[in-house]
Amino acid sequence: MRTNPEVLAVDLGGTNIRLGIVTPQGRLARRRRGRIPPPSTPEALYDSLVTRITGFIGSGGATARLGAVAVGFAGPTSSASGYVYCAPNLGQLEGLQMATHLERRLGVPVLVANDADCAAIGEYWRGAGRGAKSLFLFTLGTGVGGSLVIDGRLWEGERGIAGEIGHTVIALGGPRCSCGNQGCLEALVSATAIVRDYVAARKIKPPAESRITAKMVFDRARGGDKVAQRVIAGAAGALGVGIANVFNLLDPELILIGGGVSRAGSRLIGPAVKQAGQLLFAPLREYLRVRRTSLGDDAALLGAARLAFERILT
Ligand SMILES: [Zn+2]
Repeated sequence: MRTNPEVLAVDLGGTNIRLGIVTPQGRLARRRRGRIPPPSTPEALYDSLVTRITGFIGSGGATARLGAVAVGFAGPTSSASGYVYCAPNLGQLEGLQMATHLERRLGVPVLVANDADCAAIGEYWRGAGRGAKSLFLFTLGTGVGGSLVIDGRLWEGERGIAGEIGHTVIALGGPRCSCGNQGCLEALVSATAIVRDYVAARKIKPPAESRITAKMVFDRARGGDKVAQRVIAGAAGALGVGIANVFNLLDPELILIGGGVSRAGSRLIGPAVKQAGQLLFAPLREYLRVRRTSLGDDAALLGAARLAFERILT
């Protein structure tokens, strides 16, 4: 075992990759970002991943103290086995033991975990969740993820898929979700849902439709667009239901809200917390604490590394 080892952390999204070196004290250095070309086969994807990682190491991105590689991955993944259950944006990886494959190619221990889980641990370690005994993180982006940290440890469930708050149904017969069900939280509060509702309410037709983003809807709401304000109020109400359900079920010390959609800030989160307060079981009402995450894109890198320190390098 190397003394004072470092971890090369990787955040692998659908098309983007971020890399950085993390020390045992939680310092993140030498960040680099790039793109992953759409792969044709699992081998092509592994090739391009390994090329990125070895390129980063070769260019002075890692030192002789490199103890492990930790990958935060955008899809349900067991961090115990590195098994990828499904990969909404990188379908080639479904059903594969990603950690084992990468370990064989890189020659160092590899940990692979879900990126939202990594973000929760990162925020607990170095961000808005510092000092909390338990927290639940909502990650609001193209989809909606969730992660639970109890006494500093990730609760991943028996198969590593716990926390899928985005696919809890809160409106029977509601809008269709990416998972195939109807009325999931994700189908009501994700960036995809906000764009869908705005486009429908404004009757925007192709090709203009494809240029609308959730950020544009937030900007228009800020500029006084009543339709945009109504769409965001609807999403905030759904988020409030999600928050109340999580709080009633788990009674965590803290709820964190992160991901691109959370950048809408008080216009989304304020009404969501108010809605949650009205739905909470009465004895819990005074204890609801909701905060925005503070680490941004660095949370997943730091959290992936922290898991590697705990599980591989102790
Ligand atoms: Zn769903």
